[in-house]
Amino acid sequence: TSHLLLDGVSKRFSNDHAPALDAVTLDVAAGSCTAILGPSGSGKSTILRVMAGLDPVTSGQVLVDGVDVAGLAPERRGMGMVFQRPLLFPHLSVLDNVAFADRVSGVPRAVARVNAELYLDMVQLGGYGRRSVRELSGGQEQRVAIARALAARPRVLLLDEPFSALDPELRSDMHALIDDIRSALSPTIVLVTHDRDEASAVADRIAVLHEGELLQHDTVDGVYTRP
Ligand code: ADP
Ligand code: ADP
Repeated sequence: TSHLLLDGVSKRFSNDHAPALDAVTLDVAAGSCTAILGPSGSGKSTILRVMAGLDPVTSGQVLVDGVDVAGLAPERRGMGMVFQRPLLFPHLSVLDNVAFADRVSGVPRAVARVNAELYLDMVQLGGYGRRSVRELSGGQEQRVAIARALAARPRVLLLDEPFSALDPELRSDMHALIDDIRSALSPTIVLVTHDRDEASAVADRIAVLHEGELLQHDTVDGVYTRP
């Protein structure tokens, strides 16, 4: 679990447009969960992509435990990411989807599969390992995507509207799952959502973005009570 700090991060896609992120300084304590809320176009996806090192910053730094991620190869940044669409590998079994990160880093198949079973258990899909991902429901697919991200033992887990395609009943199950994961592994989590109830349900702090600026980063109570 790691401390994540965005220090004066700006991101411009073009000089003709306002910056997508404008001098954002955001401090996410190790093991905490921050939800990023904001209207469409406010920079939520951009901030997550910048944290993951998928998009370079225009200025400022993204620091994980004090180390600038810009200088690290993608696989050394310690970022795990889950998107709105699970993007599983359709030709691999559920278990091998979860074992993928270990396999890429050279862990023998048998060991990788034993590890993967642990993460499938954690997302309550123990026993689903041999199935094809094509047999899964949308909620199950997203659980596998979460297990796959966790299996890479990320220092920071980045979730980009991971539950917005799911039915409301399923969403509350997923919020409980995030609580379970936090109890078991204490990863540092940044969750992008446009759902205030979701933010309040899962996060310790809420960051409010508006036109690329960070307006607030406060506890759930603080965000809704302070002027
Ligand atoms: P949100 O996720 O809150 O909807 P985004 O981070 O997707 O917002 O977008 C923030 C701003 O950056 C928007 O004005 C958007 O048009 C712009 N933007 C995002 N990605 C790109 C891109 N790849 N190229 C150009 N502009 C982009
Ligand atoms: P391979 O060396 O190609 O993995 P296996 O006989 O181990 O050969 O596996 C054949 C297929 O069955 C694989 O593509 C894998 O997806 C699936 N498979 C094998 N073992 C497991 C397992 N323990 N859990 C899930 N799927 C498995």
